[in-house]
Amino acid sequence: MQADVTILGGGPVGATLALLLARATTRPGRIVLCRPRRAAIAPAATAADPRSMALNHGSRVLLKSLGAWPAGGADILHVHVSQQGRLGRTHISHADFGVPALGTVLPYTAIVDALDAALALSGVTIRAGGPAAVLRQETGAPVIGQDGDEWTTRACVHAEGGTFDHQARNDLHRDYGQHAVLAIVRASRPRPGWAWERFTAEGPLALLPYPAGPAHDTGRHALVWCCRPGHAEHLAALDDAAFADALGQTFGTRLGSFAAAGPRHRYPLGINLRRHVADGNIVAIGNAAQTLHPVAGQGMNLGLRDAARLAESLAPLLRDPSAHAAPLLASYARARGADRWLTSGLTDVMPRIFATGLAPVEHACGLALLGLDMSRTLRGPLARQLMEGLRA
Ligand SMILES: Cc1cc2nc3c(=O)[nH]c(=O)nc-3n(C[C@H](O)[C@H](O)[C@H](O)COP(=O)(O)OP(=O)(O)OC[C@H]3O[C@@H](n4cnc5c(N)ncnc54)[C@H](O)[C@@H]3O)c2cc1C
Repeated sequence: MQADVTILGGGPVGATLALLLARATTRPGRIVLCRPRRAAIAPAATAADPRSMALNHGSRVLLKSLGAWPAGGADILHVHVSQQGRLGRTHISHADFGVPALGTVLPYTAIVDALDAALALSGVTIRAGGPAAVLRQETGAPVIGQDGDEWTTRACVHAEGGTFDHQARNDLHRDYGQHAVLAIVRASRPRPGWAWERFTAEGPLALLPYPAGPAHDTGRHALVWCCRPGHAEHLAALDDAAFADALGQTFGTRLGSFAAAGPRHRYPLGINLRRHVADGNIVAIGNAAQTLHPVAGQGMNLGLRDAARLAESLAPLLRDPSAHAAPLLASYARARGADRWLTSGLTDVMPRIFATGLAPVEHACGLALLGLDMSRTLRGPLARQLMEGLRA
């Protein structure tokens, strides 16, 4: 087999790239997507993945255009940002930007399932098996191996994703000393359409609207509670009533009282960012290129923008059998630099600046939030970056 593009990793970012490339070629079978065997993923990894994704307006437009937008998401119409124990707060509304919603919350699994359904109709060659890897270069083309099979490819894309790895040593590497505790909780006075981001001394706590599901249960919220690892361990081990109580004490009474509505999960948090994502005819995108703090829900949105730009960059390779991948990938890497660094920088600064423990800094943050609330001119660029990123 000879492939035009081989994508290692069939998570949301790799699958989106495969669909985009399939649309840009007359030979979709030469786009190869390698991912773990379905039985190996479900229920061990993907089917059990507890993450809720806040996808922004740009991601929604992209996935809709691919026929891979899942039904039943919970729209975010307003975002309320505040700081525990301090004055400042800011409110961002969809009306300020003339969009139907600032974002939509979906289970990770719903996104993967919708992409899988679209892939099944796309003509892309899907190789479900053991881990795939680049074995060597042969006359200027990477040789890929999976389960004892080997093939050459004109371009190879790392999209193996993953979460923060504290042993990885990338160009920007920081362990935040925070874990995220994830849970679905029920509020006694829910406010559909509202998302809350509350900065505490240990890290940000987010409550997002959650899809109602078949039982039309509209009171559910997805919780992402970032705090010190010891505290996270303690929270994860509490019984449901004590956990709901602890959440009420930290978040306050804006949504009434809470009840836990499902199991809890923990993720260590840090940033791993590769400065150079392209190396000859091989490139990395999505979490294989950058793993971010979940504050403001940016990782998958940024990865989907990587996929969209890479598909554009690789279009000449698919049109011309004599074209080489290396210059196209180098130009891709240059084009994506600003958005990757700006988005990563924002998510790197936000969880740390509010958790310094220094009163003057925290007051300044509170004032900054007040300032943002008063000034649409200031609020606009921040919200727009979080909503759309830099489309390069
Ligand atoms: C707690 C938490 C909350 C988050 N919330 C948000 C949010 O609200 N909004 C947002 O935009 N982002 C969010 N993120 C980030 C988001 O989860 C990631 O950015 C996104 O999942 C990255 O997608 P990906 O396809 O690059 O990687 P992944 O989702 O990790 O998928 C990679 C796939 O590749 C497969 N794979 C791995 N190795 C191989 C191999 N050798 N061969 C073949 N296949 C392989 C894996 O099994 C997996 O299926 C959050 C992250 C965390 C930790």
